[in-house]
Parts: sequence; C-alpha cells; structure tokens
Amino acid sequence: MTPVTCFAGRRVALFGLGGSGLATAHALVAGGAEVLSWDDGEKGRDRAKAEGLVVEDLDTADWSRFDALILSPGVPLTHPAPHRTVDKAKSAGIEVIGDIELFCRERAALAPAAPFVAITGTNGKSTTTALVAHLLREAGRDVQLGGNIGTAILSLAPPAENRVHVVECSSFQIDLAPSLAPSVGVLVNITPDHLDRHGTMENYAAIKERLVAVADHAVIGVDDAHCRAIAERRAAAGRPLVRVSVEGDLPVGIMREGTGLVWACDGFRKPAADLAGIGALRGVHNAQNAAMAIAAVSALGIDAETIRKGLASFPGLAHRMETIGRVGRALAVNDSKATNADAAEKALASFPGGLHWIIGGVAKEGGVAPLAPYFDRIERAYLIGKSSDAFAATLEGRVPYERCETLERAVAAAAEAAQRSPAAEPVVLLSPACASYDQFPNFEVRGTTFRDLVAARPDFVPLRKD
Ligand code: ADP
Repeated sequence: MTPVTCFAGRRVALFGLGGSGLATAHALVAGGAEVLSWDDGEKGRDRAKAEGLVVEDLDTADWSRFDALILSPGVPLTHPAPHRTVDKAKSAGIEVIGDIELFCRERAALAPAAPFVAITGTNGKSTTTALVAHLLREAGRDVQLGGNIGTAILSLAPPAENRVHVVECSSFQIDLAPSLAPSVGVLVNITPDHLDRHGTMENYAAIKERLVAVADHAVIGVDDAHCRAIAERRAAAGRPLVRVSVEGDLPVGIMREGTGLVWACDGFRKPAADLAGIGALRGVHNAQNAAMAIAAVSALGIDAETIRKGLASFPGLAHRMETIGRVGRALAVNDSKATNADAAEKALASFPGGLHWIIGGVAKEGGVAPLAPYFDRIERAYLIGKSSDAFAATLEGRVPYERCETLERAVAAAAEAAQRSPAAEPVVLLSPACASYDQFPNFEVRGTTFRDLVAARPDFVPLRKD
C-alpha cells in the first residue's frame, strides 16, 4: 500500500466504495487522514464498515469541515451532470480529486524522480500497460503494475527511486488528477468513446492530452487526427516526443514495416522488433501497442536485445486474442473481451482465413454488419445467445452458419468442422462482438468457459511456451 500522507490530520469525504474506492480510503487512513465514506450501493457500504472504515451519509454531512472530495472514477465529474457530491464540494470550495492524484502527490513528496509510466488511449491501454510492465520486469526492474488495470494504484508499493510504477489511466482518472506528470506519458489512440461522460470529442481528447502534455517523455500514436494534433502541440513546445504510426510513414519515430517495427530517423531505418510468430501480439492493433511499449521502455533505458526477448515471451492478456492451444489441427483463440463489432474486427483482421467464428450474445447497434469486409475469411460461423436471429439475417447467403444456442455446442461444432478446413492453420475463434450477459455474468466467465470447453476436448494440446 502507498499511505497517503498529504491529508494527515485533515478530514476528507470519499464517494464510491468499489475496489479502488476502498483501497483509497485505507491509504488515506493509513496516512493519518479522517475519511468519511459513502456509496449509494449497500454492498460497498457494508464492505467498508466490515473493513473498519467510517461510513456516513454525505448528503447530510457538514461539508464545511471537509478539505477535499475524493471521487471514484466511475462517478460523473462533469457529464451528463456533476454528481451531487461534486456540487456540494464546489459549494464548499474544496477540491475534487481521485486516487491517481493522491499517488502523484505522494510521489512528489517521497521520490519525485521515481520512474512513473502512465498509459492512456481509447483502445489498447491494458495490452500496452501489461507489455511495458513485462518488458521492464524482463530487464530486471522493480515494477509495480496497476491503476485502471488490476490493482488499484494506492494498493501498490510506494514510489521509490529504483522502482517503476506502470499505471493504466482511464480518461475519468486523468480528469481527477490535476497534477499528473509522469516520467513517461503514453497516449495510444483517440476514437469516440464515453462521450456520454465527457460531453464532446474535444473535451475527451483534451483530457487525454493532459497525460502527455506535461510528461518528461511522451509517446503518442499518431494514426488518428486528435493524437496527431496533440503530438504537434507537444513538438511545438519543444518537449521530448516519440511518434508511433502503424498506418503510415513517419520522418522520425517508430513505424510498421512488414511484420516488424522500425525506428525511423530522417530516411534512416533501424529495426525495433519483429513481431512475426508472437501470438500475443497478432494484428496491426497489437503492433501499435508493441510500438508504444518499445518507445516507453526505451525512454527508461532498456536496450534493444532485452526488448526483443521480452516481446517474444509476452504472454498477452486473458480474453484478448488469447491463444489457448490447439484442438486437433486448429488453433483455439479466446477473444471474449470483444463485446462489440469494432473489437471483433481486430480479431478477424489478424488472421488471413480459415476462421471458425463463434459469435453472439447481446448485440450492439449495427450488429456484425460492419464486419462484412472480413466475411471471406470466415469458413463458418456458430451462433450463440440472444442475437442469433439478427446475426443469421446478416450472414444469410454470405457466410455459412449454424445456430448452436450455447457456447458448449458451438465449441463442439466449430472444433469438429475446423478439422476439415482447407486452410493450413484453421482457427476456432471466440470473438462474439456482443455483450455476454444473456448467458454469462461477464466476458471473463464467457472466456473461461470457452477455455475450459476447449481444454476438455480429447484432441486438445496446450500451447507450447518456448
Ligand atoms: P483497453 O484497456 O483500452 O480496453 P485492451 O488492451 O484491453 O484495451 O484491448 C481491448 C480490445 O481492444 C482488444 O481485444 C482489441 O479488440 C482492441 N484493441 C487493442 N489494442 C488496440 C489498438 N491499439 N487499437 C485499436 N483497438 C485495439
């Protein structure tokens, strides 16, 4: 844990008692603050009480005695409307901040030069964050990994000169962290997302820009217009910057060349990595994530050979194009995290063909129609869940399909049919393009079920880890 000492002897209100809220409350108490916490959900309140925290209704509390409101990132700060506690904090003239801000203040007090890599973007945050941490660990660094991925930031060990914090930041967390100034700031990409919570695209991009604007080193993916403009402003300010592109040419930066990545410098090219054969980094989107990670760890002095070895041993993240192993001659890939067509597109684009594609659940608007450009890569589709009628209508006459209803039947049918595929390497792919809640509690359980079903087959061979 990182005890938060900057509110020692003072009183703060804390709203939101999910995992990170509870961790934040404990860190503040450990640092000597008096914390009055609340959540509208009874579950969070009960858990906080059981853990010995002070739970008090903030609607009836005396706000003149608080020095700050600590808000969970899931609670609206501005859009669609400020949460009622935010209004109260504003009336009381106190600041509204989150756990990342508290960490930044402790870092400033304890070890201002401690290496701190902060990563954001609309997509690819978790993969990039996990890869940065993996490369640094392979290089023998003392790494603390957390934030929006896994462990809450204040549950990590405190900042120290020889310890690197690698932290995934959502836009909500950045919005609550006015003094965020990492040693390396990484911005992967910006595409429309969460606009209900950020109002406009401009506001959403401006929040993300803050993470890289004041970083000592910035790494920015410049394949979208918002990020290109952000990189321009950073360059104009004369601050260190590495641009990354996997879609175009760059005079200076990291770009894609064939299956590899190269450092470009005014016409001169130097290999950065070859991603061929690295299952966990399949696809152009993962080339973008890998390039971001390479630039980030290079800024911390990690050498090219260590990076090369680290990329090859990256295990990837569960449920994101996770290669489970083989069923007979087919590869089994779990991409249960693909809860919409955009994410499923990344999976379909990562394989040249031979796909036996398991899809369905609770569909998003538009269903799988936007994936039509990839239909020729699909040998057969296996429909599960609520979306079956709608998806059957989209696939009719274009992709052979069968209605399986359950994941169990779909895995059996796909694994059997894939054995007869004409492709050199057929793939049984769960990339459902749908939310899971008609049949599963969440995408993790859906992915684990897929993994268990695949692993229970007599023709299953687990992945060989070299
Ligand atoms: P995040 O943490 O931002 O949600 P993840 O790394 O968990 O991102 O990846 C989630 C999904 O987003 C992946 O399964 C893939 O479909 C897609 N994705 C990953 N990286 C990228 C990227 N760089 N660009 C676009 N989409 C991506």
